[in-house]
Amino acid sequence: MSPNVPEQVEAERQRIVAALGQIGFVLPGTISTRMARCGKQTCRCRREPPQLHGPYIQWTRAVKGKTVTKVFSEAQLATYQPWFDNNRQLRELSTHLQQLSLDTIRSVEGWGAET
Ligand SMILES: [Zn+2]
Repeated sequence: MSPNVPEQVEAERQRIVAALGQIGFVLPGTISTRMARCGKQTCRCRREPPQLHGPYIQWTRAVKGKTVTKVFSEAQLATYQPWFDNNRQLRELSTHLQQLSLDTIRSVEGWGAET
């Protein structure tokens, strides 16, 4: 049996679920850009001031507790950036749905905040 939930709360839940249903592919991890020195002692990256190599676009994520890094080209970043954006949206929607559910159980059960 479902608890009696106010209409506007149910409408909000349906809005979140509809948005979840529209989401595309999602990639975990973070994209960062860094400049780097190489191993050549006479290279321009060792001069003062240094002219570093890069920027290198790195995709970093945790796989079984270990950090895994892949280097992306500009084209790959352009292609896959929306997948990272989708991942952030997925987390936001998931957090929102959890919060809505927490607020609802507190309200339905007559509990105070943080119980
Ligand atoms: Zn160099």
